[in-house]
Amino acid sequence: MKHRKSSPPLCEFCKVPMRIIHGRNRKFYGCPNFPTCKHTLPLSLGIPMGIPHEDAGNNVKALRREVHRLLNQIWDYDNLEQRGKMYRWLKKNTKYGHVSMMKESELKRVIPVLQVMVGLHSI
Ligand SMILES: [Zn+2]
Repeated sequence: MKHRKSSPPLCEFCKVPMRIIHGRNRKFYGCPNFPTCKHTLPLSLGIPMGIPHEDAGNNVKALRREVHRLLNQIWDYDNLEQRGKMYRWLKKNTKYGHVSMMKESELKRVIPVLQVMVGLHSI
């Protein structure tokens, strides 16, 4: 699958194109299945897109795998509520809110943060 700059991101849960929602203070991407699915993404996700996973180098892929591994130690991805918490954390703490869009510099910034969180989590 090729990413085009003009195409909206897919909802992580429903795999359908998200649409632009005009909120009171800002615009953002929202899942068309709202209110069943409450997934949202910042509009800044649209352009620029970061590096799509299939175009990322091995180093970036390895870093993304590590971020996923750490995230899964903190939040259970198979649990919808836990997954929601994970995405809220990513949205708050990363530029794109999606590991698959994160650049090398951002991955390197997030990994030590997550390592500390995993450490706290396991106490
Ligand atoms: Zn959705």
